[in-house]
Amino acid sequence: MPRTADKKPNLTSVTTINRDGSHYILHPADVRGFFTRYRRWFGLALLLIYVILPWIPINGHPAVFLDLANRRFHLFGMTFLAQDLWLGFFAVSGLGFLLFYLTSLFGRLWCGWACPYTVFLEHVFRRIERFIDGDAPQRRALEKAPWNGTKIRKRVLKHALFFLCATTIAHIFLAYFISLPRLYSYMRTSPLEHVQAFGVVAFLTVALYFCFSWFREQFCIILCPYGRIQSALTDDNTVVIGYDEKRGEPRGKAKDPSNGDCIDCQRCVKVCPTGIDIRNGLQMECIGCAACVDACNEIMEKLDRPKGLVRYDSMNGLGGNPTKFIRPRTIIYSLLMVIGAVAVTFSLSRVQDVNVSVLRMRGSTFYVDEAGVRNQFTMALTTKRNDDTTFQAQLVDAPSDLQTGGLSQPIVVKGQSSSKHPIIVVIPKETYQGPITVNLRVQAEPGASEVVLPLRLLGPSPESLQAPKLTPTP
Ligand code: SF4
Ligand code: SF4
Repeated sequence: MPRTADKKPNLTSVTTINRDGSHYILHPADVRGFFTRYRRWFGLALLLIYVILPWIPINGHPAVFLDLANRRFHLFGMTFLAQDLWLGFFAVSGLGFLLFYLTSLFGRLWCGWACPYTVFLEHVFRRIERFIDGDAPQRRALEKAPWNGTKIRKRVLKHALFFLCATTIAHIFLAYFISLPRLYSYMRTSPLEHVQAFGVVAFLTVALYFCFSWFREQFCIILCPYGRIQSALTDDNTVVIGYDEKRGEPRGKAKDPSNGDCIDCQRCVKVCPTGIDIRNGLQMECIGCAACVDACNEIMEKLDRPKGLVRYDSMNGLGGNPTKFIRPRTIIYSLLMVIGAVAVTFSLSRVQDVNVSVLRMRGSTFYVDEAGVRNQFTMALTTKRNDDTTFQAQLVDAPSDLQTGGLSQPIVVKGQSSSKHPIIVVIPKETYQGPITVNLRVQAEPGASEVVLPLRLLGPSPESLQAPKLTPTP
């Protein structure tokens, strides 16, 4: 079949793949209407967020900044270090269950409205194509036309703009990892000076250009794993985009009163970006873009018939039965989602802008000498603040005759850095009565953040201290 010939969608093959495996190029028709309008505004808002987030400084860092060089993650003023990585587990699993929950309720709402791939494809690349090549019949005619000056000029311009957009998206993506000032400085130097960064941008540019200029809807149909698990997440009560068969069939001419409301105009098929016929029922290729809803509503309006022959509804709803929103799977997904949200909120409330950890020094667990029983620790101090932080550590709830080393002076740690310090605690022999636990309280100024850690002071049995030993005890 010629690449541009009309192809009738069916349930046994994928419209966008020809029998020989080649790509059947689709030219979806323009559509106007309620969902198209709001989807466009929503897409533009998402694009704006993607572009401006690296420009918005909060607490001296971009609003979202995965600082790989310093192994820090800045998120709307909060800073997370490598040791806060465990939070990501709850955040990712909570977001995953949120997606499961929304999918079980509303099908592929994410795909049609918010997926970055769809947003870039529909609201950037297809808009450029529409602007240069014209509407669907003009695009089809241009594809069939022999190569001449006009076709070459249009193709060069379109692909140059596609490439420019792909590389812009890739550069903005990199800014989330290295910040805009560094991106700008990299852009003014030779790529050989920053081979890794250049490699990432080059790879992303090529991948995005390939996907959005040629591969297009194939990604959603063949590659996207989320699209593959849809059938496991949805059921007959999930609100999807569907065709009201009871009302539409038998399809045929409008003037024949024995026909249903569908006049078989094919408008819903022509606007579909994945080339399916929604009247054949819900199919894996449907990304829930609602273009067919607007297309059919337009026809119904012209025929003076009620809108909604193709609409957002569940299979039960389309069959004339009530839709159940509360059902076992939505209850389970929502519970898991709430558990994830509570865990993240609780964990975030415990994340401080300073980190203190104390580890026993390598070597013997304790030493016995003339002074008493000695325990040695290493205290690691980290500040996530931009300014220098002064730490003051002291033992609390401890016997008054303990001798300490390394705790008398305040310790200044430079902003956004860590340092390590030894701590020595000696229990005099005279008062030693066996291992005890004391608390180490560390206060960070300014801000008065406070961390309290238990310190276990180990030692031999009190009886063994009767005869003094000078050698380390393992
Ligand atoms: S069937 Fe309708 S909602 Fe699904 S992808 Fe096609 S146009 Fe979009
Ligand atoms: S747009 Fe509506 S009337 Fe036209 S073929 Fe599709 S379902 Fe039938």
